[in-house]
Amino acid sequence: MNTVEDDNEKIFKGKRKRLVEQLKEKGIVNQAVLNAILKIPRHLFLDQSEGRPALLDHAYSDKALKIGAGQTISHPFTVAFQTEKLNIAQGDKVLEIGTGCGYQTAVLLEMGAKVFSIERQKELFDKTKGFLPFIGYKGAKLVYGDGYKGMPQFAPFDKIIVTAAAPYLPNDLLAQLAIGGILVIPLGEGEEQVMNVIVKKNATQFDKQTFGKFKFVPMLQNKS
Ligand code: SAH
Repeated sequence: MNTVEDDNEKIFKGKRKRLVEQLKEKGIVNQAVLNAILKIPRHLFLDQSEGRPALLDHAYSDKALKIGAGQTISHPFTVAFQTEKLNIAQGDKVLEIGTGCGYQTAVLLEMGAKVFSIERQKELFDKTKGFLPFIGYKGAKLVYGDGYKGMPQFAPFDKIIVTAAAPYLPNDLLAQLAIGGILVIPLGEGEEQVMNVIVKKNATQFDKQTFGKFKFVPMLQNKS
């Protein structure tokens, strides 16, 4: 006999399949990214205290949703787009700025990356540090701190992903990128940001490509 949980899991799995189809239609082609999104239970990452039924209903639509502390989980398309641009290989050392609810962290772990992630909101940091291992995502190095400074003690990183809107390119992050490494960062202080994909050619030279418009919460200075 099926339990209610089995039935719910089936429903969520179906919703994730449809979400993956939508992401493909929007141009996401990296199979490892799509597999991770197909597998990860996004509904568990949302702020369970606010309007739970409504949030659960929307968990697999392509929307940014509340995760607590005034923050939002990025749209699935944004997560997929940024992750695809990182071109993750198994074992890559990845620095994430803005852990939030840990969904992006889980995507990177699913893809076999070694993840280091920084969050400046203590409330979210504490919640996610307990939550990720609880649902089986162990091994990420989660730090409460200011993402502008990166994690020099663990540098260099093969890839760096910034999941909040940065007003400028933080020098410390460029310095902590390995030669040949990729930094994916939304830049801009207004309502919308431009996605920048930066490749480190050597210690002082960088290639830059820009892509479309996205909306992120601001990358704030210092810890809260
Ligand atoms: N990757 C997250 C996205 C969360 S939204 C997810 O999958 O849920 C962006 C996050 O960046 C917020 O949690 C916000 O608190 C955090 N943030 C903003 N400025 C920061 C900074 N300077 N250092 C670290 N985190 C920061």
